[in-house]
Amino acid sequence: MAKEFDVCVIGSGPGGYVAAIRASQLGFNTAIVEKRHLGGVCLNIGCIPTKALLRSAEVFESIEHADDYGVNVNGYSADFGGMVDRSRNVANKMSKGVQFLMKANKIDVFEGKGVFESKDQIKVVDDEGETQEQITADNFIVATGAHPRELPNIPIDGEMVIDSEKAMQLEEQPDKMVVIGAGAIGVEFAYFYNTIGTEVILVELQDRLVPVEDKDVGKELGKIYKKKGIDVRTGSTVENVEEDGDGVKVTIKTGDDEETVEADVVLSAVGVTGNVEGIGLDEIGVEYEKGQINVDKDTYQTNVEGIYAIGDVIGAPWLAHKASHEGIYCVEKLAGEDPLPIKYDNIPGCTYCEPQIASVGYTEEEAKEEGYDIKVGKFPFSASGKATGLGHEEGFVKVIFDDKYGEWLGCHMIGSHVTELIAEAVVARDLETTGHEIISAVHPHPTMSEAVMEAVAEAYGEGVHLGS
Ligand SMILES: Cc1cc2nc3c(=O)[nH]c(=O)nc-3n(C[C@H](O)[C@H](O)[C@H](O)COP(=O)(O)OP(=O)(O)OC[C@H]3O[C@@H](n4cnc5c(N)ncnc54)[C@H](O)[C@@H]3O)c2cc1C
Repeated sequence: MAKEFDVCVIGSGPGGYVAAIRASQLGFNTAIVEKRHLGGVCLNIGCIPTKALLRSAEVFESIEHADDYGVNVNGYSADFGGMVDRSRNVANKMSKGVQFLMKANKIDVFEGKGVFESKDQIKVVDDEGETQEQITADNFIVATGAHPRELPNIPIDGEMVIDSEKAMQLEEQPDKMVVIGAGAIGVEFAYFYNTIGTEVILVELQDRLVPVEDKDVGKELGKIYKKKGIDVRTGSTVENVEEDGDGVKVTIKTGDDEETVEADVVLSAVGVTGNVEGIGLDEIGVEYEKGQINVDKDTYQTNVEGIYAIGDVIGAPWLAHKASHEGIYCVEKLAGEDPLPIKYDNIPGCTYCEPQIASVGYTEEEAKEEGYDIKVGKFPFSASGKATGLGHEEGFVKVIFDDKYGEWLGCHMIGSHVTELIAEAVVARDLETTGHEIISAVHPHPTMSEAVMEAVAEAYGEGVHLGS
C-alpha cells in the first residue's frame, strides 16, 4: 500500500532538502526521495568538494610564495590523492549532516528514483528498476537538479572527455589538461589544476573569461591567469578530440587558425541542463522546455495542480542558494504564509578561483543597455592596506549606480576572498540603501571590505585614497 504524505520532495539537493526541512517545520508530514546521495550535486559533487580542492590549491600556492612573506619552506609537493581524499571527506561529512537533519526534522527518507505514476502518486524505483515503495502526497516538489550539458561534437565519455564530477576525483593528476568553457566551473578547475602543476589550456568561445561577469572582471581574470601560466584561448572552440595513445589530441580553432595539441584529458564545462527525463513528467502532463520545468514564480507550481518545481530543474541561475530560497518560498506559500518574493535581480554569483569573483546586479554593459545613465566607481585592491599586507593586491571592486535616483545597480569584484564581501551589496540593494549611506557607514580598518565603501565613494567623486 502507498505511504501517504502531505508533501513529498523528489531530490535532496540544496533545493530539495531545505524545502523538506521547512515543510516539516511548518507542520507538513514530509517525505524526501533521493536516488543517489543526500545533499545533491552541491554537497557531493559540486559546490562543497570543489571548494575543498580549491582550498588545497590555495594552501599550495601560499607555500609556493612563502619566501615573499619571509618564510623559508623546503621540500613541499602536491599530494594529489591527499587533496582528493580531503575533498571527498568534506563532501561525505556534509552529506551525513543532511542525513542528520532529515532525522532531526522527522522527514521520511526514501532511497531510489522517484517516478510519477499519476499526479498524486510516485513509485520509488531501485537501481534494477524494481519498485520499492509507492508514495501518495497532496503536494509533490520536483527538485531533481541538473546534469552537465554536452557539446554535440565533444561527447563526455568519462575517459578522454570528462565532466566536473570526474575532474574532482581523478585517480592521477594529469600532466596536461584542456578545459572547455571558462564559466565558473571551468575557471575553478583551471585554477586548481594549474596551481598544483598541471599544464592547463583554457578554451572559451567568447572574447573573455567568465563571460557572464562584467567585462572588466573577465579581462582582469584573463590577465591574471596568463601570468599564472594558464594558456588562455578566448574566441576559440574545441573542434575535435581523438584518442592518442594514453592521451588525447585536441583540435582548437581560433579565428581561421586550427591547432592540434596533445593532452591527457579534456574537461567539458559548458553548462548544465535540467533533470526532466525519465521521471514521468510527460505521463502526468507537466510542461517543460529545453530541460527546464515551467513554473509560476508566485507559487512554483507547474501547470499541474499540486506539482511544484524548484532549483536547477527550473533553470538559471544554477546556484545552490537560489535553489534553497525557492524551496523555502515554495513551502511557505503552500502553508498559506506570505513570504517575500525572491528578487531574481539580486542573487549574487560567486566563483572561487584565486583571485575570487563575486557579483550582483547589472554589469556596466547591461545597465547601459537598460537605458540608465550611470555613475561608476572602481577601487583597486593595490590601493588597499589590507590587500597589500596580505600580498593579494590584484583585482578591484567596481560599483554601478543610477545617476538619477541613486539606485545601486550592480557590484562586481575580483580579488582575494571577495566572495565574503558581496553580501554587503546584496543587503544594501535589498534595503534600497543609498550610496551616501554606504560611504557614511563606518567600515573597519584594515579590511578588504573597505574597498566596497571606497568604490562607492569613487562613484560619487568622494574617494580619498586614489589620488585622482
Ligand atoms: C562542479 C560544480 C561546482 C558548483 N559550485 C557551486 C558554487 O560554488 N555555488 C553555487 O551556488 N552553486 C554551485 N554549483 C551549482 C549547484 O551545485 C546547484 O545549483 C545546486 O546543487 C542545485 O540544487 P538543486 O537542489 O536544484 O539540485 P541538485 O543539487 O542537483 O540535487 C538534485 C538531486 O536530485 C536527485 N534526483 C534527480 N532525479 C531524481 C529522481 N527522479 N528521484 C530521486 N532523486 C532524484 C539527484 O540525485 C540529486 O541528488 C556547482 C555545480 C557544480 C557541478
